[in-house]
Order: sequence, then C-alpha cells, then structure tokens
Amino acid sequence: MSLRLKFNLILIAVFALSLIGAAMYYNGYLERNAINEVRNNSQVLMETALAIRSYTTDEIKPHLDPMNAQRFLPQTVPAFAATETLRRLRDKFPAYEYKEAVLNPTNTRDRANEWERSLIEKFRADPSQTEFTGTHGEGIQRAVYVARPIVIKQAQCLACHSEPAAAPASMLSVYGEKNGFGWQLNETVGMQLVKLPMLYPIEKARETFYAFMASLLTIFVLTFIALNSSLSGLVIEPMARLNRKLEDLATRDFLTDLVNRRRFFEQLASAMADSRVHNTGLSVVMFDIDLFKRINDTFGHDSGDVVLKNTALRVRELLRSSDSAARFGGEEFMILLRETRIDAAMAIAEAVRAKIANVPFDRVGTVSASFGVAEWDHREEARELIDRADRALYVAKQTGRNRVVRAEPAPAIANAGSRPA
Ligand code: GH3
Ligand code: MG
Ligand code: MG
Repeated sequence: MSLRLKFNLILIAVFALSLIGAAMYYNGYLERNAINEVRNNSQVLMETALAIRSYTTDEIKPHLDPMNAQRFLPQTVPAFAATETLRRLRDKFPAYEYKEAVLNPTNTRDRANEWERSLIEKFRADPSQTEFTGTHGEGIQRAVYVARPIVIKQAQCLACHSEPAAAPASMLSVYGEKNGFGWQLNETVGMQLVKLPMLYPIEKARETFYAFMASLLTIFVLTFIALNSSLSGLVIEPMARLNRKLEDLATRDFLTDLVNRRRFFEQLASAMADSRVHNTGLSVVMFDIDLFKRINDTFGHDSGDVVLKNTALRVRELLRSSDSAARFGGEEFMILLRETRIDAAMAIAEAVRAKIANVPFDRVGTVSASFGVAEWDHREEARELIDRADRALYVAKQTGRNRVVRAEPAPAIANAGSRPA
C-alpha cells in the first residue's frame, strides 16, 4: 500500500468519524434548542392569555356586568376574552393554538377532546400539579404544549356554573341549561392549553444543520485536497529523493561510480532469471589490475586511486547499455554481459584489456589487467559461475598477466549432467 493511499485512508477515516460525531451531536443539540425555543414561546403565549383574562376580570367585567341582566355579554367572561383575542393571533400564526378546554363547558366549543380530557384528569388526580409541558402529535402535526389547570377559586364563578336556577337568565337564553353546571369550589374543571407548532423551528434547525454539515464537508474536502497536494511536495518527493540517495550509497562505489559487489549479485540474479526465461546467453568477465600493489608503492595511493577511476571510465566506454560493470573488490572488477555468448564475451573482454593496456595512464604510465571470462550454464548457481571466472582469471595471472582466459565449462557440462554435489 502506497504512503499516499495509507495517508488518505487515515484522513478519510478521521474525517468520516468527525462528520458522524458532529452530525450526531449537532442534530440533537439543534433539536433540543428548537424545542426550548418553542417552549419559551408557549410560556409567553400562556402568560398573554392570563394577562387577557385578568384584564377582562379587572377592567372589563365590572363595567359591563350591569348590562348582563338584559342581554348576556360573553365578552365579560375571561375565558371567552382570552380565547377570542388569541384566536385573532392565528390569522398571522395559523398553527398557534390557545384553548380553554373544559370537561363540562358552558360554550360547547370549549369541550375537551379525548387527549385534553386525559390531561385534565391528570390535573384533577393531583391538585398540586400546576403545569404540564411536552410535545404532542407526529410529523408536521408535532407541537409543543403547555397546560395549566383551571380551578374554581372564586365563589362568584359559581353564579353561572352551579345550577341553572342560579344562573342569569340572559346567559341561559344564549347557552341553555344543559352545559356548564354542577361545578364545585376548588374543583379543576378544565385547563388552559397553549400549542405551538414544532414544524418551523424543526425545519429551521434542520436547515441550520444541513448548512453546518455542508460547511464542515467543504472544509474537509478543501483540507483533503490541500494536504494531498502538499503531501507530494513536502513528504513523498523528498522521501523518494532521500530513498534514491540511500539506495545509491548502499549500492554504488564512491571512487569509481560503478555499482558495488552487493548490487552486482542482485543484477546477476535478475539477469539469470531473464536468461532462463528467454533462453539467451549470459556471460561475466572478471578482471584484476596487474601488479597494482607496485603502482601504489611506486606512485602513491592517490595515483592508484586515479588508475582505478580511469579503468572504470574506460570499461564504461566499451559497454552496451544492457551491460553493467561493478567494482568487485580492491582492484578487481566484474562485467555483466546480458544476451551474450562466450565468444562475444571474450571479444568484449579483449577490447577492455586492450583499452587498458594500450593507452598509458596519467602519472603511472602503462597499466595492464588480467581477465577471466565465463558463460553461465543455466544449471549452475551464481557463485559457481563467479568461481569459474575467478579460476580463469587466476590462470591469466599465472600465465603471464595482461591476457584474457576462457573459463572451463561448468562441471555439469563437462561430466554430461553428473554435477558434483
Ligand atoms: P596481481 O597482479 O597478482 O593482482 O598483483 P597485485 O599487486 O595487483 O595484487 P595484490 O592483491 O598483492 O595487491 C592489491 C593491492 O591493491 C593491495 C591494496 O593495497 C591495493 N588496493 C586495494 N584497494 C585499493 C584502493 O581502493 N585504492 C588503492 N590505491 N589501492 C587499493
Ligand atoms: Mg591485482
Ligand atoms: Mg587483486
């Protein structure tokens, strides 16, 4: 797996987890906020209803009461005043609802429905309860409600609600004798109910949520692109350069700039694999500078180094692009010749020998080298091939130096397949 892929997978995983975490947290947070906002608004509406009620009781009823004798004026009833006023509010805010729900109302439009009845029963069961709030309904119907009990605290209320005989005749003529009687002092007869829709605040919360998530996603995408583009310049490229440098240091000989022994064996292994697949010839040339110790001793170590460097240059000039030369040891070199049979390898070795021996070197004059050449037998190991070239080189040294010697065939060939163990 490439560094960039690993980095990107980690980045995407971190981003995805952050997005999921943020989405979960903010979704809950915004919904809680929306519900709280609606709850606050419902409290305001409830207090408004109470204000209208007390205004009606204190400021309207005393003035209009005398007229009730002739004609009953519902405008003097606090519940009627609050309901009617807040009903007008619905022209502007259609889903805002205020209701005085009563179990047995005088005006039948105030009769509690089933759900309201169950809330009123709860108030009746526990008179210490002063308020219920919560949400009611599903989907677009979902609303926050605030409910407060209507308890008969003043005896004067019972004038209209105890029994028809005690009620003003004008009221009976409007509402009849059937409903709204039999109330007791301190009885919970109904509740004030404020309902505010959740739809708009929830929609607003959802829009805020989507905008927030979109901006978060945009930031992540931009960060992703920025990190990715800087990754090449800041990390991958410098690391690749460093790797190439390290690779170079580990595989190249700094004096001659040829590959070292380690890399030579790697190249040989890959060349052997190719040769086996394509059934082509593969040869190696091993050579060693003659009497190099004497050069060192006579002209100094630095001059010896110059000879090594120039030898490498001369070898390079003669090689094809598919060949490669290595510094194998002190003054010992190796040439790898791909797709080359022994005769061609001998010729190349001879050319190298001539190029070293025929052109004098600066300061030290004529230098020569001895060569051993071997073609790889597909059945032998790399080590055996090198040993055969080495033995040929030894023969060249023994037989007067400055010469090229062809290696003995691999033992397997000489003995027609019976290779030594
Ligand atoms: P022969 O013809 O038998 O190979 O004789 P030779 O003198 O070349 O062989 P020998 O093995 O006796 O000496 C090799 C010398 O090469 C000894 C060593 O000091 C020298 N040498 C090895 N590496 C370097 C190097 O990097 N620079 C220099 N200047 N000399 C080196
Ligand atoms: Mg030598
Ligand atoms: Mg040597």
